[in-house]
Amino acid sequence: MVIKKFDPWSVVDVEDYGKLIEIFGIEPLTEELLNELPFLNRYFARRIVFGHRDFQIIVRAIKENKEYAVMSGIKPSGIFHLGSKMTAEQIIYLQRLSPKAKVFYAIADIEAWEDNGIPFEKSVKYALENIADLITLGIDLKRTYVYFQSRELRVMRWGYFFARGITYNLLEAIYGEKHLGMYMSAMVQVGDILLPQHPDFGGPKPTVVPVGADQDPHIRLTRDLSKKYFRKFNFIPPAAVYHKLQWSLKGPGFKMSKRDPMSYITLKDSLPEVKRKIMNAYTGGRETAELQRKIGGQPERCAVYQLIMYHFDDENRVKKIYEECKQGLRLCGECKREVAEIFAKWLENYQRRRESNLDKARQVVDYALSRS
Ligand code: SF4
Repeated sequence: MVIKKFDPWSVVDVEDYGKLIEIFGIEPLTEELLNELPFLNRYFARRIVFGHRDFQIIVRAIKENKEYAVMSGIKPSGIFHLGSKMTAEQIIYLQRLSPKAKVFYAIADIEAWEDNGIPFEKSVKYALENIADLITLGIDLKRTYVYFQSRELRVMRWGYFFARGITYNLLEAIYGEKHLGMYMSAMVQVGDILLPQHPDFGGPKPTVVPVGADQDPHIRLTRDLSKKYFRKFNFIPPAAVYHKLQWSLKGPGFKMSKRDPMSYITLKDSLPEVKRKIMNAYTGGRETAELQRKIGGQPERCAVYQLIMYHFDDENRVKKIYEECKQGLRLCGECKREVAEIFAKWLENYQRRRESNLDKARQVVDYALSRS
């Protein structure tokens, strides 16, 4: 088992999600719970979403046709990569589960400044790109509240308000030793997660936050504070669903890094670039073609297989690649070429649609900026 460091701002290397459930008390997603959902997206169906906290409150709201919120956001520090796409698709799925669901989407420009030193004006440019992706992936804007952290006074006020309930030592225990701005940004995120329950938005309501496993510290902190301030605000502790992290193209154990563009795919990469990245990706292939034909490959350790499994709905194709790999019926060179072609074809169509959504994204961003 490998669980290196488990905080939202550091290298994360999680190989054993079962252990994560044990150590941090995340609840496993049971068949019983999944069967109660109206339909599953590929992340739930393929158990890429592996755990939750209190997700049953959302399932209940769906069944009883009651209002609930889906809270998420993006740190505007770059173009959407496949990891951001995964979170966005989760938000959209949770929104589509009921007409009573409303999305709250934070442009985390405070975090982008504190964590990456990105000036606020530059965050606006990235936000435009990110919102264009959110629209292209299928968000229903009529049921979405988009805001910039730095302009949403309610989250900042709450961040400061809840800061009374926490000590420096506790923040250090949760996040490790960081500069003060990072801790303040963590408190603003508490404000973000509880914003759907603000009196201005109708007060307490079930809220779910779809996150990568590395974001659990924010969830635990916010849930603790929501309980601590229950008497004042009647908060319902926010629920969360956790997905496994998408690997770098370098394979398990490597982090996607801006310094190494070959380690990840963005939704704006050119088609030749994407093909080159996939052709160079880490595979679960054996040392020799002969050995691979004899004992089969290891799709579960293959970044190329993960691309298909995480991002394509075609069940038959995914199964075919898995089975043929296991049985030694396919070799990595031809397999990578096939996946690169599938991916490039999808991306070409996606980028065309994305381009046509840029004006709409500009309107959303301008409106969010005008609301300060
Ligand atoms: Fe991965 Fe395909 Fe090679 Fe199997 S054959 S290890 S799925 S690249």
